Amino acid sequence: MANPYSSLKIFHHRDALDKIRRDEQFAPFYIRLKPTNICNHHCSYCTYGSGDTHNKTDNRNNIRHTDMIPREKMREIINDMGDMGVKAVTFSGGGEPLTYPHIVEAVNMMKERSIDLSLITNGQLLDGERAEAFYNAKWLRVSFDSPNPSEYAALRGISESSFHKVVANIENFARKKEPDCVLGVNFVVGKANSLWGGAVRGAVPWHIARKRSGGCLLCG
Ligand code: SF4
Repeated sequence: MANPYSSLKIFHHRDALDKIRRDEQFAPFYIRLKPTNICNHHCSYCTYGSGDTHNKTDNRNNIRHTDMIPREKMREIINDMGDMGVKAVTFSGGGEPLTYPHIVEAVNMMKERSIDLSLITNGQLLDGERAEAFYNAKWLRVSFDSPNPSEYAALRGISESSFHKVVANIENFARKKEPDCVLGVNFVVGKANSLWGGAVRGAVPWHIARKRSGGCLLCG
């Protein structure tokens, strides 16, 4: 597979480079869209969540935690992106994008406009028609933080049952996604899950155990 992070990628866009040289405006190729500030997790380190750093930063105090893009505005944005020729969109936080009530409609509209999709999610609501909407995304990344249920629950301010739900959602998504959709998990490394405290040390046996029992669903 060609390196998707090549620093030479920009040379695929000679027209855009010429426009920059001529000081002309053009539509962005890629947009990061944050449909809502609402989140169903409460990570202590997060500006958008209601974890234990709540009220500790100006940034957090200035955010309206229940904000979301109104449905009609989202439709307008997508139509504008389609008309302008935007090629790819990542849904991310803000809060948790899958709590956005119009997410499936928005995704389907983008597919009709041939816009490539990707998603950064905590995975809690990655099920049913929400998951299905992303089976043919370019990539999907689940913020996971720990392979240990109690550590995961403590870091994210939720119950341990959420850990098992997210793992089940990841497994289900891995089984049903299109082969070209790249699925990954990421860790925000802190004291509680640092290299010597959990993240990598825990993730490796997690991966190996899955590999032994028929294949790691994430990496094959
Ligand atoms: S899941 Fe993401 S948006 Fe939600 S509280 Fe955690 S880091 Fe913040």
